[in-house]
Amino acid sequence: MTQVLELVMDELLDGILVINCCSRKVTYFNNKFVSMWGIPQHILASSDNQTILNQLKTKVLYPEEFLKPIQSLYENDQNWQDEIRLKDGRTLLRKSISIPGTNTLKSCVWIFKDITNEKSIFIDSLTGCLNRKAWDSFGNEHGKKRNHSIQYCVAVVDLNDFKSINDDFGHEAGDRVLKRLGVTLKRLIRNKQDKVFRTGGDEFCILLESTTDISSSIVTRLSNELIAAGINAATGVYMSNQEGGIIEAFRKADKRMLSRKKTQKHLHNSLIHPSHLVSTRKTKTDEEIEMLANLSVAIKKGELKLAFQPIFNTSNQVSWIEVLCRWKHEEQYIPPNVFIPLSESSGHIHRIWDWVLEESIKTVHRWKQNSIYTCISINFSAVQVEYYKNTGFSYPDQIKRICYQYNVSPKCLKIELTETSLLTDSIKAKDLFNELSEMGIDICIDDYGTGFSSLSIMQALPIQCIKIDGSFVNGVPQNLSNTAITKGTISMAHELGIEVCAECIENAEQIEFLESYGCDYFQGYFKSKPLSAEEMAKCIEMHHN
Ligand code: C2E
Ligand code: MG
Ligand code: MG
Repeated sequence: MTQVLELVMDELLDGILVINCCSRKVTYFNNKFVSMWGIPQHILASSDNQTILNQLKTKVLYPEEFLKPIQSLYENDQNWQDEIRLKDGRTLLRKSISIPGTNTLKSCVWIFKDITNEKSIFIDSLTGCLNRKAWDSFGNEHGKKRNHSIQYCVAVVDLNDFKSINDDFGHEAGDRVLKRLGVTLKRLIRNKQDKVFRTGGDEFCILLESTTDISSSIVTRLSNELIAAGINAATGVYMSNQEGGIIEAFRKADKRMLSRKKTQKHLHNSLIHPSHLVSTRKTKTDEEIEMLANLSVAIKKGELKLAFQPIFNTSNQVSWIEVLCRWKHEEQYIPPNVFIPLSESSGHIHRIWDWVLEESIKTVHRWKQNSIYTCISINFSAVQVEYYKNTGFSYPDQIKRICYQYNVSPKCLKIELTETSLLTDSIKAKDLFNELSEMGIDICIDDYGTGFSSLSIMQALPIQCIKIDGSFVNGVPQNLSNTAITKGTISMAHELGIEVCAECIENAEQIEFLESYGCDYFQGYFKSKPLSAEEMAKCIEMHHN
């Protein structure tokens, strides 16, 4: 009979382990237990419970919770069950049954049932968080209970700019951001009762069990964790109460989240050319986070360099030189179109500006010592315009100080401002531009044509030159609308007494066209690529002789 029983036991789908409560030795296990836990038979056969528990412990996700109920197991006769998460992703249901007997015969039976499949319908496969179905089911169960003695802090988190991550970096990057958000939110969980759900595409909800109102501390922790993870999301937190339950609390938290999102959007809401919207995105991909870590030490490690691109007048002389920042990290050049927007959204741009400004003025000083006298233009970021509006930081004083230190006149400098940086409240930055202008620093509008700027802006500010964006120059003379815009821009600027430079000129046809319509200055690979300081010095000498 025992043999028959053993055969039957080995055919079962549940893993069974029997321990003698007195000797604490394993008295029985079936085949399924062996395959389920992957513990060699000989270890099982010869072992006491402690050795086996140590083996099992290495496989479970929360070893402490796994071991907690065991002490009482041998002492009282109660049967109980719980769920165990394994490191490999499986979930097992553990049933513990006490078999009474005389002291030496008393046994405890553990039955393990693999419930991964039943559980998996409630798990979001991408993030490992609970899914919408789990949320609905939990909400339903909770709703049926009349008296909600257990309270929950409900936090709704919604990514602010998820679409643009998918659009700019592809869906894989989007998936990585969602995963990171899942991991970040799980950090707020303190015990098994707390849960993280992915309730929508880019919306998550955390449920934290608590007897007291913890909402304000959760608001702070949540925002700190999100900032640390480089994630820009709107959040709303609400504490469930006795009557309302979690569904009602979720609705209120969601409402708070939405109203925050609206105010955040309002702040960014300006008329900006779609190609410039990228810079308003704050959530970072993994690559960006790594890049930022490298960027923050790039200056110290001497990885930043300057390149110089000459701008020619109609007599083919170098009129001035644009300073462009270069970053070479571990033998690889990272283009400014990648690291500048990133440094703008992270605040690194201020340190880059400090470095570029001083390094450029130093270079002008060195050229001067070699009897090369030339002006330079430096790019000034939209973030710096905002910084000035908010803090009143005196860029003119900074420039004066460095110019004085290297014995260079501020009149040798020009500032290139992107057109988009003037779109919102540019009048608030008027004092800055006036002050720079009074110091003899010319102000050029860079990438002109991408920001839909109006004539009123141009008239209100002291602008000496506009640089027509490469995307328009690129299309002349074949593309009709590019040609019309370029022609119109040149004549409009001239009527306002503003000079015009064309960027990204790559062939003779373009330059001929531009010259025939009265363009004043020319920049682009056709004339010269960006050069090192030494190459630049030679280029100037050549063009002046
Ligand atoms: P930008 O100020 O409009 O600079 C002109 C960009 O056009 C430069 O790209 C230059 O190398 C490129 N370029 C010049 N001629 C040609 C051409 O004929 N064909 C093509 N296809 N491109 C040409 P770069 O150096 O990659 O810089 C890109 C942007 O990064 C700059 O655009 C500027 O907005 C920003 N940037 C670069 N250095 C700095 C800096 O030090 N500070 C700030 N705030 N921004 C910078
Ligand atoms: Mg520029
Ligand atoms: Mg430009």
